[in-house]
Amino acid sequence: MTEPCVFCLRNVPTRGHHVVPRCKGGREIVPTCHSCEDFIHKTWSHNELRDNFHSVERICADKRFQRFLRWLHKQKTETVFKSRRNRTRTDRKYR
Ligand SMILES: [Zn+2]
Repeated sequence: MTEPCVFCLRNVPTRGHHVVPRCKGGREIVPTCHSCEDFIHKTWSHNELRDNFHSVERICADKRFQRFLRWLHKQKTETVFKSRRNRTRTDRKYR
């Protein structure tokens, strides 16, 4: 399904991103493109998402995310980008 991603606002195929990770009790789902979803999960752990980045506004206000968006808007919309795990992000996947 193609609809605007709430993060980068591009009209692209999206999937539901849990604003609060599902394993932390999150219920709210917003349309998110694969590139934004991947960046978010490679940048922050589930605990950080729950504690500090539990809303679209919080994520969009982050400097690292803004830099990512500036870059993303220069790319072709058909391409899905995989992010590398951020150096400060904990290795434990589901904590
Ligand atoms: Zn997006």
